[in-house]
Amino acid sequence: MARSYDSTKRILVTGGAGFVGSHLIDYLLGQGHDVLCVDNLFTGSKRNIAHLHNHPRLEFLRHDVCFPLYVEVDEIYNMACPASPVHYQYDPVQTTKTSVHGAINMLGLAKRLKARILQASTSEVYGDPSVHPQTEDYWGNVNPIGIRSCYDEGKRCAETLFFDYHRQHGVEIKVARIFNTYGPRMHPSDGRVVSNFIVQALAGEPITIYGNGAQTRSFCYVEDLVRGLVALMESPAEVTGPVNLGNPVEFTIRQLAEQVLELTNSKSELIELPLPQDDPRQRQPNITQAKTKLGWEPKFPLAQGLPATIEYFAALMNK
Ligand code: NAD
Ligand code: UDP
Ligand code: UDP
Repeated sequence: MARSYDSTKRILVTGGAGFVGSHLIDYLLGQGHDVLCVDNLFTGSKRNIAHLHNHPRLEFLRHDVCFPLYVEVDEIYNMACPASPVHYQYDPVQTTKTSVHGAINMLGLAKRLKARILQASTSEVYGDPSVHPQTEDYWGNVNPIGIRSCYDEGKRCAETLFFDYHRQHGVEIKVARIFNTYGPRMHPSDGRVVSNFIVQALAGEPITIYGNGAQTRSFCYVEDLVRGLVALMESPAEVTGPVNLGNPVEFTIRQLAEQVLELTNSKSELIELPLPQDDPRQRQPNITQAKTKLGWEPKFPLAQGLPATIEYFAALMNK
C-alpha cells in the first residue's frame, strides 16, 4: 500500500542536536510527527534540544552514524556531519568517515525499511566554482587533496552513494545542496562567518576578515532552509534532486561585516587575516529547480534574519 504523506510519521533526524537539525526537529514535532534524534554530540549539544526535554514525541539517542543503526522509522533526514571548516578540519578522517560510512549505514537502514531518505549535501560540492551562479548540473571544481577535501569529497561521495542506492536498490532518495545557512543556535565558537562576526561585534573585539573580504557568499535564514528540506522530502518520488537550497542574494564578506557592525551598533574595527587555503571566491545558488519543483523560495532577507540571530547571541553572552 502506498504510504500517505499526510499522516503522522516516525522520523529519524541524524545530527538532530546540531544547528540545522534542531530547528528541523522543532518543525517536525510541530507537524505532529514522532522524532528520533540521533547525534554523537561532536559539534551539537543537548542544549539545542533542551527546550524539548520530556516532549512525548521526541527520543534522543547518542550514537555515531559511522556505526550501524537498527531502528524502525518511516523517513530519514541525514544531517549528521560537522559543517564549519574549523570543526570538520579538526579530525578530517572522522569527517570523511561520517559522510561516507554514515551514508552507507543510513542508506542500508533506508533500504531495509523502504523508507525515504534525505541527504544534507552542500554547495561545497561545487568547490571554487567556475560557473556562477551555481546550477545543479555543474560538476564543480574541487581540490581532492586539500584541507577542505575531507568535507567536500566526503559529501560528493555521499551523493554518489545516494544515487547508486537509488539506481541499484530502488531507495527513495532526496539530495539537498545546502548553501550557507545562519540563525539562532549556531555554536558561538563554531568559526563560521556569521557567528564569528556577531560574537566579535557584540564583544567589541576586532572583526576578522579573511583575505580582503571581496569573496562572496549568499546567506539563507535557517527557518527558510527547514521549509525547503521538508518540501523536498515531501515532493513526488521522482524528484530526487540534487536541488540547491539557499538564498540567492549575494554579499561580499566585507558587506556582511559592515551590516553586522551597523545592526549591533558596535565600534569593533575590521582587520584582515590570511585567506584560508582553497576558500571559494564566490558562491550564489541558482534556485530555479527548488522554485519550480518544490514551490520553495526563501522569505527572510539578511536584514531580517540577522537581527534575530544577533538577539540569540546577545542573550547567550549575557548569561
Ligand atoms: P552542526 O555542526 O551544527 O550539526 C551537525 C550535527 O551532526 C552535530 O549535532 C554533530 O554533533 C552531529 N554529528 C557529527 N558527526 C556525527 C556522527 N559521526 N554521528 C552522529 N552525529 C554526528 O552543523 P549544521 O550547520 O547544523 O549542519 C547540518 C548538516 O547540514 C550537515 O550535514 C552539514 O554538512 C549540512 N550543511 C550545512 C550548511 C550550513 O550552512 N549550516 C551548509 C551546507 C550543508
Ligand atoms: N545497516 C544499518 N541498519 C539497517 C540495515 C543496514 O545500519 O537497518 C547498515 C549495515 O551495517 C550495512 C550498511 O548499512 O553495513 C549497508 O547496508 P546494505 O544492506 O546496503 O549492505 P550490506 O549489509 O550488504 O553490507
Ligand atoms: N570568513 C571570514 N572571517 C571569519 C570566518 C570566515 O572572513 O571569521 C570568511 C571565509 O574565509 C569565507 C566566508 O567567510 O570566505 C564564509 O566562511 P564560512 O566558514 O562561514 O563558510 P564556507 O567557507 O564554508 O562557505
